[in-house]
Amino acid sequence: MVILATNIKNDYTFMENILKSLGIQEINNGCSTGTNYFASGDVIESFSPVDGKLIAKVKVATENDYEKVVQVATEAFKFWRNVPAPKRGEIVRQYGEKLRAKKNDLGKLVSYEMGKSLQEGLGEVQEMIDICDFAVGVSRQLYGLTMHSERESHRMYEQWHPLGIVGIISAFNFPVAVWNWNSALAWICGDVCIWKPSSKVPLCAVACHNIWNEVAKANNLPEGISCLLVSPGSVGEKMCEDNRVPLVSATGSTRVGKIVGTKVANRFGRSILELGGNNAVIITPNADLQACLPGIVFGSVGTAGQRCTTTRRLIIHEDIYEDVKQKLISAYKQLRIGNPLDENNHVGPLIDKNAVKDYLVSIERVIAEGGKILVPGGVLEGKGYESGCYVKPCIAEAKNEFSIVQHETFAPILYIMKYKTLDEAIELQNSVPQGLSSSIMTLNMREAEQFLSTNGSDCGIANVNIGTSGAEIGGAFGGEKETGGGRESGSDSWKAYMRRQTNTINYGTKLTLSQGIKFDF
Ligand code: NAD
Repeated sequence: MVILATNIKNDYTFMENILKSLGIQEINNGCSTGTNYFASGDVIESFSPVDGKLIAKVKVATENDYEKVVQVATEAFKFWRNVPAPKRGEIVRQYGEKLRAKKNDLGKLVSYEMGKSLQEGLGEVQEMIDICDFAVGVSRQLYGLTMHSERESHRMYEQWHPLGIVGIISAFNFPVAVWNWNSALAWICGDVCIWKPSSKVPLCAVACHNIWNEVAKANNLPEGISCLLVSPGSVGEKMCEDNRVPLVSATGSTRVGKIVGTKVANRFGRSILELGGNNAVIITPNADLQACLPGIVFGSVGTAGQRCTTTRRLIIHEDIYEDVKQKLISAYKQLRIGNPLDENNHVGPLIDKNAVKDYLVSIERVIAEGGKILVPGGVLEGKGYESGCYVKPCIAEAKNEFSIVQHETFAPILYIMKYKTLDEAIELQNSVPQGLSSSIMTLNMREAEQFLSTNGSDCGIANVNIGTSGAEIGGAFGGEKETGGGRESGSDSWKAYMRRQTNTINYGTKLTLSQGIKFDF
């Protein structure tokens, strides 16, 4: 069950109302197939990094609960796969409408439970709405190709069928949008979903699930089309090993992605892996600094450096290095760090004290490896910072080959370095194990096109004159190398949620064998 903490009722009446509007009252728990809630595991506590206060306690699902959920989802698939795709799209349209109506409440909960700014919380819900709209359109466009057969009086074509249960494992930093990127497409494709969210943000998951349940109930849908499993990683691993789950889409660290990818591949299942990034911006002497600096600063400190697409490295041409450095230092001095629900602040808290520890260790390591701190970091204390999770965005001069620079620290630490030639800059940009997002700031067409060419960025996302962070749902989202190679959201990502079948039909009077083989008897 979700038990709201007393402080929420006393001090945070606004949050109590929000939770009520999202269907989170004292009777829910973290494991549900729709109308049925069952979770027999331990209780986890959800603390807000904004003020350190306990928001609620949630009972989690065990491996036995997992078994019940899979059984219900398996039955639901038998129904859902036979609903025509445009009709499935209509259900997703209604879900998108509900999200529109609840955008403010859900956005505020995202901000309070995860710690991102209110604008970003609302932006996340908007992404959910956008992917619903996109999925509704795709529900009428699940196209297969037709091709000419080499045999007379034969027809050949491809069609796409639903896969079955899609397991969705999500990270704490996008507590609602990433789930919907996956689920909206999976639903219109005829799949059913089991969602294992991060246990750091369980209330956001319960809220999304409750909104789905309202739509499911209004349409008399059976339970199990969308299931929730608030549970520890071990239950996620069980899903990765389970043959009844043909696709697992996992968003998280490269460490967890390796476990997920290996376990799923071991049983010849499919996975979509959306893992860590180590994103760089190249700034050439032809950049419009005035226009690009806000994007660079937002990319580095937005969501307190906790986006997979956060700008972590700046590769700056030596001729403009000093100028850019001074401008950055001056911009960082103007950053306001504080409660993310207050729109005047630019930077909110890290998710928890472990993240603060990682941040401090990374700063020590860059110094130990020979880096020079330009804008010092540190943990903020005193009024407004009681959660102990607010840190100062930090800039360090560093070399790309430092082991700490090669590693993704999920915090606002920006490494800056110099280059002489564009070839060298691209080489530096690509010389990390991760391959998610990248950009170049230049008004020179040759530089931009080289960056986007075969010899350019090796990332899944390569931008010109916009930063590394943020992505529109219309494009396929994902990255290469240790980022995992998965693609989700827009473009033709829907294909990952379906199985392709090639059909050959003989409407003639003879059976013609392929390759000219004769088999007379
Ligand atoms: P994490 O890897 O710690 O956890 C991610 C999810 O995996 C959580 O739900 C967690 O409970 C689950 N998990 C943990 N152990 C597991 C196991 N053994 N088997 C199955 N599931 C397990 O990541 P996090 O700290 O929540 O999120 C931050 C990370 O996510 C960063 O590395 C960030 O770059 C990455 N991320 C990537 C993208 C992307 O699209 N590429 C988007 C958001 C976040």
